Amino acid sequence: RAKADGRNRFHYFNETLQDIAERRISIAAELRKAIMYDEFVVYYQPQLSADSNTIVGAEALVRWQHPERGILGPQEFLDIAEETGLIEEIDQIVLAKASSQRNAWQKTLIKSTDFKIAINISARHLKSDTFLDSVQKVLAEVNIDPSLIELEIVESELVQDFAKAVNVISRLKAMGVDLAIDDFGTGYSSLSYLKHLNVQTLKVDRSFLSDVPHDKASCRLLKGLINLGKSMELKVVVEGVEDAQQLRKCHEYFGDIVQGYFFSVPLNAEDFAAYYNQYKSS
Ligand code: C2E
Ligand code: MG
Ligand code: MG
Ligand code: MG
Repeated sequence: RAKADGRNRFHYFNETLQDIAERRISIAAELRKAIMYDEFVVYYQPQLSADSNTIVGAEALVRWQHPERGILGPQEFLDIAEETGLIEEIDQIVLAKASSQRNAWQKTLIKSTDFKIAINISARHLKSDTFLDSVQKVLAEVNIDPSLIELEIVESELVQDFAKAVNVISRLKAMGVDLAIDDFGTGYSSLSYLKHLNVQTLKVDRSFLSDVPHDKASCRLLKGLINLGKSMELKVVVEGVEDAQQLRKCHEYFGDIVQGYFFSVPLNAEDFAAYYNQYKSS
């Protein structure tokens, strides 16, 4: 199989357009069943303070526990979920599961009361008419403090139908939910949008780390992006930290939070708890 153009697209060699269309239809049908049979699980990737002393939160990332194919990542199904609108239900499932996990961990694992859980929301979902009500409903059912939740929206999707997004985001903020701009710097958009949005966090896309620290221009660009976020009084998360040298730069440039394979890949809830305990004691 060949992975191709873009993070969410994949195709097979020698596949005709009809094959592709048929596979999409069958995945869509399987996704409906997966929702019915509760096959989605949530993995958690730790987020650390840039001095790497403390685990300050986790990002929830959806996985599909497929009955035959095993654990599947979002690149296998997210684009089809988007097209069919099933993403709205999947996002709700992840929001509910991650929020109740966060509550459960407060009793068994986590000492700090401000450990945050970051949850990805598709922009299509964010802009749907039922979004605010359904978020409110889930938070009430799970009985979680909204300030422990941070919803992540990808920059490139956010800037489309911007007026709608501004409205929804200010109402989310009124509910006490924080917002993060994900994959920041890759949206090819005018930065002026930033002053109209009541968001709390910028997540600098991992592509900005790829030539850090050996390439000077890449270092300056990373520093500039972090500075931009800080001067807007935002919390800056750098994602995709893969080695100690990249971590050192994030710290040197005053990033607030780091996340990446250098610390851990996304883990199931049980493995996350083990990681958390081990990190604390080391
Ligand atoms: P994202 O929100 O930007 O999440 C970070 C992605 O980068 C994750 O991929 C994570 O496993 C990966 N990653 C983390 N650290 C590193 C690193 O050091 N190096 C590299 N190369 N990669 C790293 P994953 O889990 O495959 O998710 C891909 C994307 O799918 C996410 O990107 C997010 O946009 C989307 N997604 C995931 N879960 C959900 C969900 O529940 N709802 C929605 N709407 N989207 C989701
Ligand atoms: Mg994210
Ligand atoms: Mg990201
Ligand atoms: Mg991404």
